[in-house]
Amino acid sequence: MAKVGIPHALAYYLYYPFWKTFFEKLGHEVVVSTPTTRAILDRGVEETVNDACIPIKIYHGHVASLIDQVDYIFCPRLISVRRHGDFGTETFCPKFLGLPDLIRLTFTGAPPIIDTPIDINQLESKPKSKKDKKRKPAEIMEAACVETGDRLGNSITQSRAAYQKAAQVHQRFLTLLEQGKLPPEAIDILFPPENPISYELENPEFNLAVVGYPYAIYDHYINVGLLNILHKENIKVYTQDTLSDKILNQEASELPKSMFWYFSNRAVYGALYYMKKGYIDGIVHITAFACGPDSMVDRLLEIEARRRGKPYLPISIDEHTGESGVRTRVEAFVDMLRYRRDKK
Ligand code: SF4
Repeated sequence: MAKVGIPHALAYYLYYPFWKTFFEKLGHEVVVSTPTTRAILDRGVEETVNDACIPIKIYHGHVASLIDQVDYIFCPRLISVRRHGDFGTETFCPKFLGLPDLIRLTFTGAPPIIDTPIDINQLESKPKSKKDKKRKPAEIMEAACVETGDRLGNSITQSRAAYQKAAQVHQRFLTLLEQGKLPPEAIDILFPPENPISYELENPEFNLAVVGYPYAIYDHYINVGLLNILHKENIKVYTQDTLSDKILNQEASELPKSMFWYFSNRAVYGALYYMKKGYIDGIVHITAFACGPDSMVDRLLEIEARRRGKPYLPISIDEHTGESGVRTRVEAFVDMLRYRRDKK
């Protein structure tokens, strides 16, 4: 049995239930780093190249916190996780693509990094016709699991069985999200801790769509507790992660062109969907400082929100973001929503 470390950052928020189930079914122990703290952030800033975006710095901090506790660090090379149909090529951003190399080069004394590539758009290795055929996503994920299990000394049969179980749990996770649970709530429902997170509200005063990268929306340290601030203000939060792929693809099909990056596309499609909904009172976009893709996403959403008359609040996060600054901006935004409502 090995101890496998999963950093509580980046893809954790959408894929933790899958990988936790997979490793545990194989008989390994999963060690997750704690939610982000000042010490984790400081360590990440110290270890990472200066021009990295804040989420990548935080990821380094989480890896550093796991190094002495585990036998392996799980850092898959995320290339693509979604068939993007006719809407163009879509991958994770370049920083995700090179993440395992970055981690390996930064932490030279670290335990082995399990960097299984995940590329749902992989072609069949021997295309049967002249036209390249893509393998089925489930087949690709199963093969990735077999490769991961092999690194840990598990057999193909064991890894396939663990994959089946992980896929079932992932499906339950997606169902919870589509029922309106945010990822941290859904994770706590699947693996109940002592004090589970809940953002339930009886009679919310407003409904806001909070869009952006999951690792910016759900990392309470880096966004200085934005979701809690909104919850205390009696505001219900919707995010792109509570929308099904079908809805996101529908939004994609209505755009003349999509961007290349998976998480940026999800934020854009989710925001455009919510901008059309009467029950959504406004859009909050959490942007990450030094993120190249976000400079385009933010401008696009600002233009679309103005065109559709939807109140829009961008909040940029970096290592110096302070709670009072975010709280003041949120409170001013909510005051403006009240003014608009009362004027009607
Ligand atoms: S999408 Fe932006 S914030 Fe996310 S890892 Fe890439 S550069 Fe960083």
